[in-house]
Amino acid sequence: MSVNKNYTDETKSVHAGMMENEHHAVVNPIYQTSTFKFRDADHGTALFAGKEEGYIYTRMGNPTVKGLEDAVAQLEQGHKGLACGSGMAAIHTVFGAYLKQGDHVVCSEAVYGPTNTLLAEIFSKFGVQTSFVDTSDLNEIKKAMRPETKIVYVETPGNPTLCVTDIAGAAEIAHAQNALLVVDNTFASPVLQKPLVLGADIVVHSLTKFLNGHADVVGGLIVTKNEEQFKALRRALNLFGGILGPMNSFLVHRGIKTLAMRMERHCANAQKIAKFLDKHPKVESVVYPGLPSHPQYEIAKKQMKCPGGMISFEVKGGIEGGKIVMNNVKLCQLAVSLGGVETLIQHPATMTHAIMPREIRLQAHITDGLVRLSVGVEDVDELIADLDQALNRIP
Ligand SMILES: *Cc1c(COP(=O)(O)O)cnc(C)c1O
Repeated sequence: MSVNKNYTDETKSVHAGMMENEHHAVVNPIYQTSTFKFRDADHGTALFAGKEEGYIYTRMGNPTVKGLEDAVAQLEQGHKGLACGSGMAAIHTVFGAYLKQGDHVVCSEAVYGPTNTLLAEIFSKFGVQTSFVDTSDLNEIKKAMRPETKIVYVETPGNPTLCVTDIAGAAEIAHAQNALLVVDNTFASPVLQKPLVLGADIVVHSLTKFLNGHADVVGGLIVTKNEEQFKALRRALNLFGGILGPMNSFLVHRGIKTLAMRMERHCANAQKIAKFLDKHPKVESVVYPGLPSHPQYEIAKKQMKCPGGMISFEVKGGIEGGKIVMNNVKLCQLAVSLGGVETLIQHPATMTHAIMPREIRLQAHITDGLVRLSVGVEDVDELIADLDQALNRIP
């Protein structure tokens, strides 16, 4: 089920994970079954003992799910993948497999909100401590390392500030202390950035975003670097139970066929929109890793094929300015999530981060007029015209 390793991501997106099957279907069949029959008692014994390859029960593995796992693992140039019921299930499975009482984690402060809460509120209950630091500054990681640090967890580009962490640099620091570097590669996708090749040990994804790309499935995936990791994480996933079903795996795998093509368009559109916003009189500032004004512009250029489809920008007029844009866009859809073919826009101060006290929100760089844009694959001039008319309503 493995596609030629030397193929480009454009070809791998289309073919990786496709498997031979009974009727020679071009696309993987959906094995919508919870369980698999044994030929006889000896066959059952051999499967349970791991002496023969095969499927037993869908929580422990399923051919349709395996096709998707292979596809993402091959795009990441990793060993094997493990599909999970959501991005959070993937992240939880990795933490649950590798952390125990007394361990310490160093985590990006610009991280997906629930990842922060999982560590700060749930894992802390089990005696795991976490230091949240600005990982875009490698010295901050170095300073936070302790003898008991087991995982350095990096999200890059990070949410929602789009700051970029040097993956190779972070790997060196983690490995000097025998810690694992785990990278959340959701914002970039494997087509734009390959953390395992840069030195990371494990990659996690929210499939919900660019990998699926069509805003119709919630899912997650872990990519491992070797068989030992795979066995440990397969066991943890089997026990925690947060698997992805065959139907959703099929849908995500279908989405991946156009991943390379979509990412090219996301990047081209976002680059043009970032430049437009940068010059707009109603826009205070723009954060996009493809603009030379981005603080980690050079690192982004070095480790990413292109800077991605996510833009953050600050509009004039604070909270009110942000609301005016939200209420006047027509083509951009007012919704959270990201990475789909449709352009989504949201205003963290009145939406995702509205419950945060203003002081704390500002400390986290989530300012009143901050707008987050997930640039889709629509016609870029039509997107620009939509943003322009909405911005021009700000007095
Ligand atoms: C959405 C997201 C997650 C969580 O994924 P779910 O599929 O919603 O559980 C994790 N990390 C990042 C960067 C995300 O954008």
